Order: sequence, then structure tokens, then C-alpha cells
Amino acid sequence: MSLPRDTDILIIGAGPAGLAAATELAPSARVLVLDRETAAGGIPRHCGHYPFGLREFRRLMKGPAYARALVARAEAAGVRIVSGVNVVSLLPGPRVVVTSDAGVTEINAKLVLLATGARESSRAQWSIGGEKPGGIIATGALQGLVYLEGRRPFRRPVILGTELVSFSAIMTCAHAGIRPVAMIEPNTHVTARWPAAVYPHLKGIPLHLSTIITAIEGRDQVERVVIRGPKGESTLEADGVIVTGRFRPEATLLEASHLLRDPATGGPLIDSFGRCSDPSYFAAGNLLRPIETAGWSWAEGVAVGGAMGAALAGRLPQRDTYPVQLSGDALAWVVPQRVAGVEAAAFDRLQLRVTRPVAGWLRLKVAGSEYASRRIDSRPERRITVPLPPRAGAVDIVLEEE
Ligand SMILES: Cc1cc2nc3c(=O)[nH]c(=O)nc-3n(C[C@H](O)[C@H](O)[C@H](O)COP(=O)(O)OP(=O)(O)OC[C@H]3O[C@@H](n4cnc5c(N)ncnc54)[C@H](O)[C@@H]3O)c2cc1C
Repeated sequence: MSLPRDTDILIIGAGPAGLAAATELAPSARVLVLDRETAAGGIPRHCGHYPFGLREFRRLMKGPAYARALVARAEAAGVRIVSGVNVVSLLPGPRVVVTSDAGVTEINAKLVLLATGARESSRAQWSIGGEKPGGIIATGALQGLVYLEGRRPFRRPVILGTELVSFSAIMTCAHAGIRPVAMIEPNTHVTARWPAAVYPHLKGIPLHLSTIITAIEGRDQVERVVIRGPKGESTLEADGVIVTGRFRPEATLLEASHLLRDPATGGPLIDSFGRCSDPSYFAAGNLLRPIETAGWSWAEGVAVGGAMGAALAGRLPQRDTYPVQLSGDALAWVVPQRVAGVEAAAFDRLQLRVTRPVAGWLRLKVAGSEYASRRIDSRPERRITVPLPPRAGAVDIVLEEE
């Protein structure tokens, strides 16, 4: 495999966001997509279940078929995709350093898109004590084992978390003949929306709300899981734990780079064109925030790809951008974090999340005067979107709780 030394557009990450942007840009530029996995397609490649593809292909698909269709569409448009290449450094220029079987190489580009996705929190990040036996894995890893390797790592696991991805874990277990013994949620409510929230009940999996895992016990493999909930402490006989959700942007590359990060999302700081603090770098997809669906990430890839095309043609406005500020401790983050005047932007809405269940009014102000308001009744991880300001200026988003 030989890698080119330069290209017009370099895209890091061959998931839905990266492939969508690549397909959008291919008619007018040389586009190179790199991915560190052995095959392109991103997370959906590991998800042998529905629902994928409605927005992109107008039909319901399983993850691997959806991933193959995205790859085929990009290649048909002229995109060059190279797998097994790990990008290790982002430099001004833009220039990136990559490692592969061929060694260490530098690639120059006119513009770079970061589309490295998100990853789930580990057991350590959930702060679970106890012994360190085998059989504790995240949903993504479980899906890799079950769908890509045909393995069954345990038979009676406990599922920790109730985000949408936790229900992917249930579907993956069903596919492999694994019967979860319980689903554990530290909060008072299931995080995912109905109808996903009734799924454990339909599958006969006991759901423990307001409950935490205090210890995981076992020598080589998990043998018991100790939980503490409203009725006190109890022990579940289980041989595995699936740690689900609590996603974080896969932002390792940003850590040692010159690009600014948003401490609230953990991803890059971007404006409403998807531009990073160095305007030769753009970003799209779940790297921006934890976490959205594949279809949403794909649509962001299309839109940011369009903005990159405009930048290549010299049609993107200059960097006169204004900050978006959040007031109210229940507001977790906003994407994008800066808006660019009244120009048609890649992001047609501001995306928000809350830190805890809240009800109240969101008041949106530009340069101090209100331009929109809406009532919200929301929970962490649920999508909230609000309109961009109709005129240029700093934006304030104020939450007035009821
Ligand atoms: C377990 C699980 C189940 C899900 N189930 C569904 C579902 O049923 N329906 C749905 O709509 N969504 C689902 N999602 C969400 C959705 O599929 C993804 O989040 C979506 O794939 C995001 O697209 P992306 O392009 O932003 O990132 P990803 O698909 O994560 O792609 C990012 C790519 O970047 C590559 N990469 C990262 N760092 C580097 C680097 N340094 N160098 C080179 N390559 C790099 C990765 O290898 C990866 O292929 C699920 C997510 C998970 C984790």
C-alpha cells in the first residue's frame, strides 16, 4: 500500500460522517480517507442490527450493510479510502503524520476533516470498585466480538446504563443467545426515550433504577456483581458486565495538537461552518459531541463537506465569528460553540444537552436581545436543538428552570 504525499482533502475516519463528506467533495477535489481499522465503515460495521440507513438510503438496514453501502457510494464518487492507517499527529499546514505497515509518513493537504467519532467510557471512568476479572466490556467491543468474530464472551451479563446504545447491547446479546440478568441505571429514569425504554421489560430483563454497581467480583471471569439501590445492597450472579454509553469524543489526536478543544464536549471547538480554531481543519460527526445517531452524523458530514468545498473554492466567509454562551448550570454543552454572522452555515441549528432532568424555558439572545424562546422538558443525553441567530453577534442561551 502506498500513500500519496499530498491531496486536496484529507479525511480522518471512514465512518458515516467522514464518508458522507468525502462523497460530497469528490466531484470537485482529490479526496483521501484514512481509517485505522482494517476496513472502512466506522461503528456501523460492528452493529449487526437495525436501524440504519433511513435518512441516507430511504430503507432500513443493518449496520454492516449500511457501512458497505456508504463505502461503495464514496468509492463510486472517486474517493480513495485506505484502511489500516493510524493518524498520530495533526500539524499546521495542514499536515498530518500517519503510521501504517509502510512505516511513518507525512501527508500534506489543502484541508483536513476530523471525523474520528466517539467512544464509550470504561469501567474505570464509571468508578467501579472490586476485583479486575475478565468479562467487562463496552458495547462496541461486545459487538466486535459477536458480529465480527462470532464469539460469545459470557452468558449472563449485567448491563450498566440505559442510553440508546444500551439497547443495542440487548439486541447484540439476543443475537448471540446471551441472556442479561439485569440492567442497572444510576439515575431515577431510563435515559433513552420511549419505545427503547420498554425494551428491557419486553425482553424480561429486570431494570434497577437509582442503582449503582459497587463492586465486580471474580478471579479470571466475573462471578458476582454487587449493586446498591433503594432497597439496599444485593448481589447478582453474573459472568460479565457490559458497560454502555457515557460516550466521549475520540479526541486523542487533539490532545497534542494546536487545535482548541471545548472542555464541555471534549471535542474540537468549531464554528457554524464546522471550522476548527485553525481554519484549515474542519470536524463533523460524533467527534463533536457525545453522541448522535449514524444518520445525524452522516448529515453533518454532508453539510461540513459542502462548507469545505466552498472553502476550497475561496467562497467561505472570513473568520468573523461570535461566541455562543450558556447560562444555567443544567446546560451541559452547545455545538457549534461559535457562529459566523448570518451566512448560510453548515450547522443550521445549535445543538444542546442538559446535565440533569430539567423543565423550563430556553431564551435565546443575540447581542443582548431575545430572538427566540422555547419550553424544554428534557433529560441528559436527549437531543435539543434551537435556531441560529437571525443576525450577527454573540449568542446567549439562558435556561430559566420552572
Ligand atoms: C455500540 C454502538 C451501537 C450503535 N447503534 C446505532 C444504531 O443502531 N443506529 C444508529 O443510527 N446509530 C447507532 N450508533 C451510533 C452511530 O453508529 C455512530 O456513533 C456513528 O457511526 C458516528 O459516525 P462517525 O462517522 O462520527 O464516527 P464512527 O462511526 O465512530 O467512525 C470514526 C472512525 O474514525 C476512525 N478513527 C478514529 N481515530 C482515528 C485515527 N487516529 N486514525 C485513523 N482513523 C481513526 C475509527 O476507526 C472509526 O472508523 C451506535 C454506536 C455504538 C457505539
